Amino acid sequence: MEIFIQENLEIIIAGLASLGGVVSYLILKSRKEPVVSDHIESKESGEEKKVEVPTPAGPSWAQRLSKGLEKSRQDVWGKIGDLFSGEKTNLDDIEEILYSADIPTSYVQSLLTKLETEGKGKSSVEIQNLVFDFMNQKMAPIQENVTEDLFQYKPESGTKVFMIVGVNGAGKTTTIGKLATKLKGQGARVIVGACDTFRAAAVDQLQVWCERAGVDMVRAKDGADPSGVAYDTVAKAFAENYDYCLIDTAGRLHTNQNLMDELGKTKRVMSKINEKAPHQVLLVLDAITGQNALKQAQEFNKALDLSGIIFTKCDGSAKAGGAVAIVDELKVPIIYIGVGEGVEDLHHFDKDLYLKTLIGLD
Ligand code: GDP
Ligand code: MG
Repeated sequence: MEIFIQENLEIIIAGLASLGGVVSYLILKSRKEPVVSDHIESKESGEEKKVEVPTPAGPSWAQRLSKGLEKSRQDVWGKIGDLFSGEKTNLDDIEEILYSADIPTSYVQSLLTKLETEGKGKSSVEIQNLVFDFMNQKMAPIQENVTEDLFQYKPESGTKVFMIVGVNGAGKTTTIGKLATKLKGQGARVIVGACDTFRAAAVDQLQVWCERAGVDMVRAKDGADPSGVAYDTVAKAFAENYDYCLIDTAGRLHTNQNLMDELGKTKRVMSKINEKAPHQVLLVLDAITGQNALKQAQEFNKALDLSGIIFTKCDGSAKAGGAVAIVDELKVPIIYIGVGEGVEDLHHFDKDLYLKTLIGLD
């Protein structure tokens, strides 16, 4: 027998290889056809495409976050202890740096009051801890409600639809690309709907991300109705048991009202397929825009009843501390934070790590 195998090894290997080919052909044949309407082109990466999930190389998340928040820490939050400790009471300087970081007046004033009443004679580290308490008290009650399924894939938990909204340039499309890559890396099946049909380049940009991530994408022919694309993507997601369905949307229309109306319609049509869809409406906010980010958030929240925020570009300015006002004013938690353009620069938001890194506490 052993001799037989040795002598015929090549023939046996060739036989097994062609058997494998037949089996994969049969598997491919048995795959369901996409449930999409005529005006939609579905771009499927297909299960047969083997995706190499890259192991994160380079700096850890804590290091990336620290680098990303460097400016906000060095120019603003990390300085407060040195300006107000022991005999020093430079409240005017603290007020100035907080305003330069675009922190809303009411937050600046109540932090100054806290320092005056509780901080006299304390050490620099104790003052930094007071700053931590101040921010933590505002954020903790809201951040507590974040459920893990927003960032951690659990098999068999059913299709989850995330609608991603925000103004142009905030980072929606790249964030979806990063999210799709991460969720796929956890083993989830992901489908993306390219509903920013007003800009062909936006759809192409998303497609590059999806191809790279090896996830499926539904795209419309140019100028199609964004709600139609959302509807078809969500229908396909439920019909074919995808784990996550990520819906990209437009960020600019002729007027803000047009944009909000269109987004409202997109949200409503999804619920016709499943009453829980979209499970999450996530607003992408660019930290660089400071208090303007807060105004945008209020407007989007009024129109769409947001469930979470993705706070991007925290690496781009000294304004990352604005998160505290956004969370507290809106009573909406931050789910993800972005500190750069790479996939590994987006991470789920850990309040304590964020605050300690921002303030410079170990
Ligand atoms: P959209 O118009 O909302 O879809 O925005 P895009 O996804 O096209 O992003 C606009 C730009 O912001 C792109 O060049 C992204 O690479 C960049 N970007 C997104 N997130 C971050 C981030 O966290 N940090 C930095 N520095 N750039 C980011
Ligand atoms: Mg976009």
